[in-house]
Amino acid sequence: MAFSEHTTNPEIPAIDNYIGGEWKPPISGKRKPGCNPARSSEIVGHAPDSERADLDKAVASAEAARHAWRKLTGAQRGALLYKAADLLESRMDEIGLAMTREMGKTLGEAKGETARGAAILRYYAGEGMRPVGDVIPATDAEALMFTTRAPLGVVGVISPWNFPVAIPVWKIAPALVYGNTVVWKPAAETAVTASLIMACFDEAGLPAGVVNMVIGDGAVIGQGIAEHPGIHGVTFTGSNAVGKRVGQTALARGAKYQLEMGGKNPIIIAADADLELAVDATISGGLRSTGQKCTATSRVIVVRDVYETFRAKLLDKVQTLRVGDGLNAETWLGPCASRKQYETVLGYIRKGREEGAELLVGGKRPDDPSLADGYFVTPAVFDRVTSKMSIAREEIFGPVLALIEARDLNEAIELANDTEYGLSASLYTSNLGNALKFVQETDAGLVRVNAETAGVELQAPFGGMKGSSSHSREQGQAAIEFYTSVKTVFMKP
Ligand code: NAD
Repeated sequence: MAFSEHTTNPEIPAIDNYIGGEWKPPISGKRKPGCNPARSSEIVGHAPDSERADLDKAVASAEAARHAWRKLTGAQRGALLYKAADLLESRMDEIGLAMTREMGKTLGEAKGETARGAAILRYYAGEGMRPVGDVIPATDAEALMFTTRAPLGVVGVISPWNFPVAIPVWKIAPALVYGNTVVWKPAAETAVTASLIMACFDEAGLPAGVVNMVIGDGAVIGQGIAEHPGIHGVTFTGSNAVGKRVGQTALARGAKYQLEMGGKNPIIIAADADLELAVDATISGGLRSTGQKCTATSRVIVVRDVYETFRAKLLDKVQTLRVGDGLNAETWLGPCASRKQYETVLGYIRKGREEGAELLVGGKRPDDPSLADGYFVTPAVFDRVTSKMSIAREEIFGPVLALIEARDLNEAIELANDTEYGLSASLYTSNLGNALKFVQETDAGLVRVNAETAGVELQAPFGGMKGSSSHSREQGQAAIEFYTSVKTVFMKP
């Protein structure tokens, strides 16, 4: 059972870790409550507050399972992922509901993400049947030279709360299909969702120890994964501050690591853009999921000729967006995921004003008294933003758009690149020359023309440039690069 039998109220589950094929309460017996960000007094679950001893047990289980697991064929491992995909899909309503109650995104988005999780599992299930190497002409005519790939061993997965299904699944599925075993530390904020995913792996019949889940504080279990000598590779998605430390710790002990971190993603509106489409993309890319996507649009760089027209159209639409509980079918924009996020967003709204930007709309608590107990912020649009301001430089991770005026497309691209981040960037234009220039000159791992900045396709490589990433790529067939090591084989009769 994902939820401990010791729970006193089945409506408020007490969550267990999953170690060696069994649900285990944390050794300390301690758990921490998690609340619904739409109604902060509502407790949605009690997440394990695990210690290093729990992690040690999970690593030992993953180690014990890995030799038998790697000996299975890719097709055999893939067959289990297909089963997990079916189970995840069949529980879409339950998982979507848990996600909305834990981190606030709308139910439609939460179910959509769960369906995407199933699609990712199926994609990697199929990867179990794909070629993994090349035959290379040897200098010796009698020899056969080729490459093959070996799994890393035990992979540690550290994932954030903002995509609590898609991100862990796009890490765990390739790790498994290429023959690794896994120790996963989900964000404690989304512990119920995590335990439901784990239940799907359990019911799919993965051998004991192949996937383990330990929930606890980042500084204890996350840092523990980075440090653990029994973990051969660490894959992390989250903030830059934490990611850099995880990477340095893994590097210091010689473990392979992969970091996907924050963004400060620009959309450029060229003078020849279709402004209606550009407004919709700015709103969808910047404000869906309450702006809490790593690929969310944050800087809106508009060429002078169309600046005022675009701004007026944007404001008209932003003011119609309905803020509310994500469980309500009419809600377009849920709450910030936690008190911490809420306070961060309000802090940036204050800072934006102090530094001289003009808040045109939003950036405050909604008037509706039924939302008074939630972490709601109305979507904010700042005008007169310059690239020196904090709201143009630092990742806010909330429903805040910063309008920046550019003389022309050249200056717009310069402004877009004037950031330490390089995750995603978008341009709206009807001119092919503009599009090509943007694609060539923009420093971002995901470059989109006439499409919003958010939007990741599971079959394509995903990752950032500059400070957004460790320069590795996830998803699609790129995933094999992290989860395996190349072996070059030279064979002579
Ligand atoms: P976070 O860095 O606070 O936490 C991410 C994970 O790291 C969580 O599991 C957390 O418990 C763990 N952690 C916390 N402290 C740790 C420590 N000292 N050592 C090891 N692990 C630790 O990030 P978050 O607030 O959960 O997520 C939001 C961030 O994630 C944003 O910066 C966002 O841009 C980024 N993100 C990036 C991508 C991407 O693919 N590039 C995708 C989604 C989110």
